[in-house]
Amino acid sequence: MSQFDVTVIGSGPGGYVAAIRAAQLGFKTAIIEKYSTLGGTCLNVGCIPSKALLDSSEHFENAKHNFAGHGIIINEPQADIVRMIERKNEVIKQNTDGISYLMNKNKITVFEGVGSFESATQIKITKNDGSSEIIESKYTIIATGSKPSSLPFITLDKERVITSTEALNLKEIPKHLVVIGGGVIGLELGSVYLRLGAQVTVVEFMDKIIPGMDGALSKELTKVLKKQGMKFMLSTAVSAVERNGDTVKITAKDKKGEEVVVEGDYCLVSVGRKPYTDGLALEKAGVELDERGRVKVNDHLQTNVANIYAIGDVIKGAMLAHKAEEEGVFVAETLAGQKPHINYNLIPGVVYTWPEVAGVGKTEEQLKEEGVAYKVGSFPMRALGRSRASGDVDGLVKIIADEKTDEVLGMHIVGARAADLIAEGVIAMEFRASAEDIARSSHAHPTYAEAIKEAALDATAKRPIHM
Ligand SMILES: Cc1cc2nc3c(=O)[nH]c(=O)nc-3n(C[C@H](O)[C@H](O)[C@H](O)COP(=O)(O)OP(=O)(O)OC[C@H]3O[C@@H](n4cnc5c(N)ncnc54)[C@H](O)[C@@H]3O)c2cc1C
Repeated sequence: MSQFDVTVIGSGPGGYVAAIRAAQLGFKTAIIEKYSTLGGTCLNVGCIPSKALLDSSEHFENAKHNFAGHGIIINEPQADIVRMIERKNEVIKQNTDGISYLMNKNKITVFEGVGSFESATQIKITKNDGSSEIIESKYTIIATGSKPSSLPFITLDKERVITSTEALNLKEIPKHLVVIGGGVIGLELGSVYLRLGAQVTVVEFMDKIIPGMDGALSKELTKVLKKQGMKFMLSTAVSAVERNGDTVKITAKDKKGEEVVVEGDYCLVSVGRKPYTDGLALEKAGVELDERGRVKVNDHLQTNVANIYAIGDVIKGAMLAHKAEEEGVFVAETLAGQKPHINYNLIPGVVYTWPEVAGVGKTEEQLKEEGVAYKVGSFPMRALGRSRASGDVDGLVKIIADEKTDEVLGMHIVGARAADLIAEGVIAMEFRASAEDIARSSHAHPTYAEAIKEAALDATAKRPIHM
């Protein structure tokens, strides 16, 4: 029987990063993945493919609507969805091949098959052809991720009533895509098809989209997406989804309790994701789940069984690739006797619409609820020379600082390249910078990042320069 120091079950961003860090630290490491490609949800049906389609559809949108303004005259562009999907698959392959290369380079043994516990130290790997082998491991890290969730009354036929996985592989551009759920995934994939010419209606139960993010971002994004043509039905509770041939009928109740019906040719159900533990036989190792089906862990990400840890989407916390990665490193370093730390307040959240949306730290709503005295500075993107040059004038930067100490407590951005810009907020807050520290740091001109400096100036002293 093969023996390992560390075995990771699942090769998503949590699992493969945990395996690499464990190998770097000198552990004899194995990783088990049930699919033939590594990289998990993120690389195969999540972060990377969605960004590939977002980028392709953004090029199309620019060619259609923005090139002429820049003095580039082309014939009416056509969207070739088949080629876009093909390119997306090429991007996936480059990335998943990259993970195989990294496994090889770090001398990590890769097992293809479903991993299931035989005991706390023995794991069975069952291959597609039914054959199996058992390995022994001193430590195991569960990194089995998540799957799309649905509503009890919805039948996902995966043709017309679909999840994000199918939405990343459509063979035609929908005429009318109805998106149930105004969260990150729904808005990103809604944006893809909106840009390609579909009518897109978002039905959201709450009274705003991206409800977990700062209210200013939700408001600004709603305004911009409406301008782009996306329709919203907020405070609307879906009660039935019926497919009839090529039509999908969505019945819901609006905030007055009146029945509303919307029909489309596709319905994307993006109401969140649920932890995935099927097939793990956790009971054979004695690993407990919490009330929401997540693997229960303590502050060291250790389960109730001392040598078994869990990370990523399968445990509590934000379902984000970079959160899973931090946890992968955390567990490997813990096993090596180090004392790693994760500041969960500083895991940034991003929405890759255009403009992008990003936030880190506390929202204004959270600070109000916690009774913390704060001050706010903000700066509109349209006041920047860089934004005018590129034509990306929508959005703003909002910085929240402690009223007395000036320490930055939150940074929230809607704007071009917000996903990249938010790193400045993360670093500032990791080092407990004040708004004045940011305001007094030189920011290259012309850049979108200048809006951060200006918002910090506004927060600390109410004296932005370019307003
Ligand atoms: C459309 C979409 C877009 C997204 N975009 C972003 C984004 O832009 N940024 C971001 O941070 N996050 C994004 N996410 C979320 C991100 O994909 C997840 O948070 C991340 O993949 C979680 O990583 P993980 O390692 O915990 O699990 P996963 O990536 O889900 O990987 C788990 C792996 O475990 C395997 N597995 C499960 N059970 C077994 C078993 N018993 N044996 C062997 N293998 C098993 C699965 O096959 C899978 O490969 C997106 C998700 C979706 C769906």
